[in-house]
Amino acid sequence: MAQVPEVAVVGAGIVGLCTAYALAERGTASRVYESGVPGHGQSSGQSRIFRHAHDDARLVEFTRQGRAVWDEWADRLGAELISSDGVVALGGRVPERLRILQDVGGVPVRTVDSAELRARMPLLADYCGPAMLDEDGGAIRTRVAVESLAGALGDAVVTDEVISLRPTAHGTVEVLSAAGREEYVAAVVCAGLGTARLARNVGLSLPVRPAAHVRLTFRVRGAPPERVACLQDGSGDFGETGVYAAPYPGNRRYAVGLSQTVEVREDGSFADPAALVALSNRARAYVSRALPGLDPEPVEHLHCWVTSLPWSEDGMAVWEADRIFFAAGHNLFKQAPRLGRALACAAMGEGLEENLRPAAALG
Ligand SMILES: Cc1cc2nc3c(=O)[nH]c(=O)nc-3n(C[C@H](O)[C@H](O)[C@H](O)COP(=O)(O)OP(=O)(O)OC[C@H]3O[C@@H](n4cnc5c(N)ncnc54)[C@H](O)[C@@H]3O)c2cc1C
Repeated sequence: MAQVPEVAVVGAGIVGLCTAYALAERGTASRVYESGVPGHGQSSGQSRIFRHAHDDARLVEFTRQGRAVWDEWADRLGAELISSDGVVALGGRVPERLRILQDVGGVPVRTVDSAELRARMPLLADYCGPAMLDEDGGAIRTRVAVESLAGALGDAVVTDEVISLRPTAHGTVEVLSAAGREEYVAAVVCAGLGTARLARNVGLSLPVRPAAHVRLTFRVRGAPPERVACLQDGSGDFGETGVYAAPYPGNRRYAVGLSQTVEVREDGSFADPAALVALSNRARAYVSRALPGLDPEPVEHLHCWVTSLPWSEDGMAVWEADRIFFAAGHNLFKQAPRLGRALACAAMGEGLEENLRPAAALG
């Protein structure tokens, strides 16, 4: 007989799917409400970077722990979830980031010379500035991750929009959705752009900043390289200081974006509608200067919303209101399995990790 769901999870992006999967690991059934298609929101597209380098040592440690969860789940799901080709980072901040990583320990990172850089990242133009390699980093196989997790959760994922949720006087959480009204022991809201709105219903004002983002995908010229690392370029040598890039499965395509985003108003409208096109033109120009291994004509544009917290580009936090937990932040794909486990523990009444509370300003 099917288990009665005890926890409501709102959103089947990577964070909601990982939370539901982590609950299932513990034997707790959940219902995952998704108003669209699983993984179509901020989790859309074919790849993301898993990197350990962050400015906050606590986040480096969280990410290091998360890497082990990805491996455990990859074994269980029988799929490669992160490539084994590493991440190379370029630029003047390399020594500082390396120091933070080495202070935390347990992450295989080191500087690389230009010969090794060429071997690891054969698509890149000549570069001889500071460079480091995060060997346990790599390209997250986002589609495989979303599809394997959604497949493992089966009927627990339902197509339904949550309109509102609130704690009841008798200690449950009431969820009103397009298709009905249910009560649960707890709820976890991982609704991306929709999280702040649902939090307002219980009197929480989340400092989430919505913005728009664009990422382009390019064809690799010639035969795909056997190995190709992800790239973070903060050097400025090729005219940009915030570039991230990652291969698609099979290494025939490479996605490139500027970490810059375009601000939007609270209602989602643009103050400057042309700004997103200007960003994509800059990414394209960067590719023709820095990545001669790519055909500079993009084959795909990914336009999407991102939500970040004011204290850091990598900031994340979880707000709590009577057994309802609201997760928010940016660059959460890599963190999702570890964050999902923390959210599952919180929903099961085991308490929220201190580092995830907003006051900790993790990131
Ligand atoms: C181009 C790009 C590049 C990125 N690069 C990286 C990277 O290299 N590394 C990294 O770690 N991260 C990266 N990120 C960030 C990362 O992808 C996101 O932080 C992550 O995917 C967020 O997942 P999520 O589950 O929180 O949100 P989402 O994926 O947005 O999922 C939220 C879901 O909730 C659903 N929903 C919303 N409201 C409701 C409702 N009321 N009822 C039911 N369902 C609802 C939505 O339909 C959606 O599917 C990148 C993001 C983008 C856009």
